[in-house]
Amino acid sequence: MTQFKKLFPIAAKAFLLTALISTASTSVSWAEEETGPAFAPPVTKTAAPEIGPGMRNNSNFIVVLDPGHGKTGGHYSGCHFEYNGVTYYEDEITMKIASYTKQYLEQFPNYTVYLTKDSAETTVPLDQRASFAASVQADLFVSQHVDSALGNGTVKNAYGVSSMAPRTGRFNNDLALQSQEAANTILKQLNTLGLHNRGLILRDSENGTLFPDGSQADYYAIPRYSQMYGIRGFIIEHGFINHTSDLTLFLSTEEQYKALGEADAKGIMEYLQKAGKSTFTQTAEVTQTAQNTNNQTEGTVTPPPASESKGPGVN
Ligand SMILES: [Zn+2]
Repeated sequence: MTQFKKLFPIAAKAFLLTALISTASTSVSWAEEETGPAFAPPVTKTAAPEIGPGMRNNSNFIVVLDPGHGKTGGHYSGCHFEYNGVTYYEDEITMKIASYTKQYLEQFPNYTVYLTKDSAETTVPLDQRASFAASVQADLFVSQHVDSALGNGTVKNAYGVSSMAPRTGRFNNDLALQSQEAANTILKQLNTLGLHNRGLILRDSENGTLFPDGSQADYYAIPRYSQMYGIRGFIIEHGFINHTSDLTLFLSTEEQYKALGEADAKGIMEYLQKAGKSTFTQTAEVTQTAQNTNNQTEGTVTPPPASESKGPGVN
């Protein structure tokens, strides 16, 4: 990912923290999916494509894949779980899934695929992941994660795949609709592997963060930034690491990671072949409300000690 390194050489090293924990979810999902600074900075782009949805289905599609998490302060920031003496780390799994998605898509000459990072050992702040996707004018930006639930596997009803996507009916409504449709297309592909489809998870900001039109912003950083930048973007959760069935059937072998990655790729292709390139309507001025100008609690929470930062696993 030399292009990415060129774009963020200093910042990628300067910011090591932004993988954040949000425990107060109404969902049974525990995993820290994932907030960041209220809004990311404006993106400098060289040229905006003048192509509307569905107009040129054979054109070159740009896909940005975001392997979730990475090392922060010497510890993986994602969830983890120990099973039969093996510890499984979300950070490593998402890197593998993303690599298989990229590999599958690159079989096709009209797909250009970027990863937001090139190693599970690397952490990139969430706003930079999104601004990178915007800077290359991504037609689709997919942040790939693995879920986790409180209770070290004792929560029996937390299993399956889901997507944190932007809510419709407010700022950039048409874009949110496209993101939701793309997310659902991928979830259906994952469902064909046998994973339960939990559907879309829509969550509003809980600290008063508003979009420029005054509407409530999305809570999760990836869909919020995507809405701000005018890119189709969302999180896909690939099952629960601490649910025995999800773990053993879908999240524990190389073949399983490949199947997940390829299912994502097929969903991405199915959506883009149908919807076409994005119109990429980046908002020029990113503004913050008075409430959140100096209040980025959803994005600047200091990660807890290492023993807790990896998730609800052992120790
Ligand atoms: Zn995650």
